[in-house]
Amino acid sequence: MDFDLILREARIAGAADRTTDIGISKGRIAALAPDLPKGAPEQKLGGRLVVPGFIETHIHLDKSCILGRCQCEKGTLDEAIAAVAAAKRGFTEDDVYERASRTLEKAIKQGTMRMRTHVEVDPRIGLTSVKALLRLKKDYAWAIDLQLCVFPQEGLLDDPGCEDVMIAALEAGADVVGGAPYMDKDSHGQIARIFALAQRFNVDIDFHLDFGLDTAHLDVLEVCRLADETGWGGRVAVGHVTKFSAMSAADLDALAKRIAAAGVACTALPSTDLFLIGRDYDGNVPRGVAPVHRMVAQGVNCSISTNNVLNPFTPFGDCSLIRMANLYANVAQVSRPADMELCLALVTERSAKLLNLRDYGIVAGNPADIVVLDCADGPSAIAELAQPLMVFKRGAMTVSRPAASLLRPAGQADSAAA
Ligand SMILES: [Zn+2]
Repeated sequence: MDFDLILREARIAGAADRTTDIGISKGRIAALAPDLPKGAPEQKLGGRLVVPGFIETHIHLDKSCILGRCQCEKGTLDEAIAAVAAAKRGFTEDDVYERASRTLEKAIKQGTMRMRTHVEVDPRIGLTSVKALLRLKKDYAWAIDLQLCVFPQEGLLDDPGCEDVMIAALEAGADVVGGAPYMDKDSHGQIARIFALAQRFNVDIDFHLDFGLDTAHLDVLEVCRLADETGWGGRVAVGHVTKFSAMSAADLDALAKRIAAAGVACTALPSTDLFLIGRDYDGNVPRGVAPVHRMVAQGVNCSISTNNVLNPFTPFGDCSLIRMANLYANVAQVSRPADMELCLALVTERSAKLLNLRDYGIVAGNPADIVVLDCADGPSAIAELAQPLMVFKRGAMTVSRPAASLLRPAGQADSAAA
C-alpha cells in the first residue's frame, strides 16, 4: 500500500500499552500496524500519545477578546450579560471576524480540530456575528471543522422579534439551535420554542441551562420530557448545569439516570463556572462545577469545554482543552488513573459523541486528524498538561510546537545521561 505519510511508534489513548505505526493516504488513516513498510515520508513519534484532535463543544468566538471594552467589578452573571449586551452594540462583521479568528487560531495551536461555537442573535445584532463566523468557518476549514449554534443570550420570548432572527440565522446556514431559558420569565416556554425550531430545521439542540445553585427548580427535567416527546434524544446537550454541583451524590445519581434515559448530554464549563458562581458567598465559596465524570457512570454522555475567552464571563483563556480538563480534574478531586483517562475522553471522544460526529477516531478510514502529545498515556496527559507537539488535519501538518529544551552551559553534565 502507498502512503503519503507514516507516523512511527504512536500510542493511542485507551490502548497505550503498545505502539503502532499510522499510515496516511489521501488525507485519511489508511493502516494501523506496527512496522509498516518503508517508502513514504515519516515522522518518528518515539512512543508518544496521539489523540484524534481535541473538540470544543461549547465556546463563544463572537464575544471573545473584549475585556478591554468592558468595565466589570462584581464578576456576576448579570453583570457579564449586561456588559456584553452593551459591547455588542459596537460589533461589526469585521470586528467579530478579527477577534474570533484570533481565538480560533489559539485553539488550533492547542490541537483543537472540531468546534461548536455558540453565536448570539437578537433583533439588535441581527446576523452580523453569524455572517462573520460563516466566513471564518470557510476560511479555516483547512485546520478545523466549525459548527455554529445560534442562541438568544438576551432572551427569546421576552425579546420580541428575536425568533425571526433565529429563523433567519438557521436559513443562512447555522448548524445547531441553542437556548438560554433562564433569560425568559417563562423558561419552559423558551424550551418549547427551541425544540420547535430544532424540529422545523432538523438540527441538534444545545442549551445554556440550570445556572446557579438552587436545586428546587431544574429546567433539565423539562428538556428531558421534551426530548422524549419529540424523539430528539441523542441530539440534545445542556451546558453549565452548575445546580448539579449543589446536589447530594444520591440525588445527582437519580437525576443522571433520568438524563441518560432521555439521551441528553451535559457539558461542564469549569473556567466560567468557577469564576461566576457563588459571588454572593462570604467564605466557603462553592465550586459550582457539575461533576460530569460521576454522571458518566450513570450513563450520561458528557463533555468539558472552554466556553468564554477573555471577556466578562471569563477573563482567562489560552483555548487549551488539556488545561480545561486538568482544571476540571483538580476541582472535581479526580485522582484514579481511570478517571484521569475519562477526563481526556471528555475533551475528545465523548465530545465527538455529543456532536454526533461519525468520522472521529484513530481508525482506518477516518480523516487523519491527529494530535501528538508530549506524553505516553492518557492519565499523564491530564496530570502533567502534556502539550501538543504536532497537529495533522486530514493528513497535512497544520501546527508544529517543538517541546521546550534545556540549553545547558558547556561542560555541564546532563544528569539523565550521567
Ligand atoms: Zn456558553
